[in-house]
Amino acid sequence: MLQAFDGVLTNFRGRFPQLNGPVVQRKDACGFCDSLVGEKLAEADFWDLAEVELVRCSACGLMQVDPMLKPPVVSEGCLALYRFQQMGETARSRRRGLYRAFRHGVAFGVSLKMKGISPKCVLEVGAGDGYFLKGVQYVFPRATYVGLDLVEEILEALKKEHGFETIYSALEDVDPVTMGQFDLVVARDILEHVARPGLVLEKLCEMTSDSGYLFFITPNGWQDAWQMFSRWKVDHSRSELLINHVNYFDPTSLRARLESLNLKIDDWFIYNLKTFFRGAGWRLIEQHKARVSQKRSASDMIAKSSNLTKTFAIAAEAAIPRSYSFAFLRPVLFFYCWYKHTPFLRVKPSARVGEEIFCLAQKSPTSV
Ligand SMILES: [Zn+2]
Repeated sequence: MLQAFDGVLTNFRGRFPQLNGPVVQRKDACGFCDSLVGEKLAEADFWDLAEVELVRCSACGLMQVDPMLKPPVVSEGCLALYRFQQMGETARSRRRGLYRAFRHGVAFGVSLKMKGISPKCVLEVGAGDGYFLKGVQYVFPRATYVGLDLVEEILEALKKEHGFETIYSALEDVDPVTMGQFDLVVARDILEHVARPGLVLEKLCEMTSDSGYLFFITPNGWQDAWQMFSRWKVDHSRSELLINHVNYFDPTSLRARLESLNLKIDDWFIYNLKTFFRGAGWRLIEQHKARVSQKRSASDMIAKSSNLTKTFAIAAEAAIPRSYSFAFLRPVLFFYCWYKHTPFLRVKPSARVGEEIFCLAQKSPTSV
């Protein structure tokens, strides 16, 4: 789709400032290639918990925070962010969010069906509220579904609300041998959060059966990193980093990594160009800069907010409209979700513009 447009966007992007900075020695090695040399793009604070730099590997192009955030710091920061986000939500907005995730799952399931793919056993890593997977289940009701997550509360909800099998683990610690293999592995917005993305991609690949599919989405690092980069470049100020995005993928280096893993790439594009047209990822303007760090206190945030598991349960009660329970409406609802949530405006990731990278890759049968 829109092939000619790709060239125009690549040329366009080339005329504007690029992500760059002075060469520095890193504290932690690159999560793809172990190199210790990088370019410093920005400085940031993860709550009041850690001070980091944003560094791009000189060898492979992967951008990461350096030093890497440690697990206890990530847990505390994530809980603080979760509470912070919940404060601005009502049961109604929460319910809308769950239903949206469900429709996205249906749209993705329908797109698989259109390619002639019918998974029998599906694993979602970082399954969250489980509504995306529930949407996939609506399209493939006979398949088995397993959710893996790091937060025990979430796993309980997955089991109770949806009846999915659950596994409690951090992705880096997963043992692919005991996990078994799946003919569809889903990793939505996960790769940008893991300390060792190279290792995690290998594990995801090992958990995918021969000829099975790996599906992920992850932010385009060129646009995601832009906020911190432009704040540093223009004002020389440290950014506030509240979400633990620790990896900012250069689409070209990410693709090279995937191809080294015996994966055949089926679909590979960037979507969500709305903010790009407004200047995200290429204009050095205030609107697209990260907030200046105030070293917001994570422990204060946690202390002053309440556990909202109950609110979640209330929201989940009637999240999916009843129309989805009528079999005769399935074809119409398939089309509705597919049409509403399939990204039709797509550009090649090599153009480095846009918000989110979409990848569907098939594991080549291992040749013996
Ligand atoms: Zn590297």
